[in-house]
Amino acid sequence: MSKQVCVDCITDSYLQTNFADNDVDECDYCNEERPVVTLEELVEELEEAIQASFTYAEQPPRSYSSWIPT
Ligand SMILES: [Zn+2]
Repeated sequence: MSKQVCVDCITDSYLQTNFADNDVDECDYCNEERPVVTLEELVEELEEAIQASFTYAEQPPRSYSSWIPT
């Protein structure tokens, strides 16, 4: 089963806003009940965000590791 991460553990404000309306469940990182997203969904969203940042050049691309808590 895929890990879930809550909006509070995601350090990126764009992604926090994006997933703020997700279903509430227990976060696998902080164990709080908050809107969560699976890591698969998060990576998909990151890939889209990175592609968008290349396309529009509004933000420099960032590495995944700074967005996903360890
Ligand atoms: Zn959390």
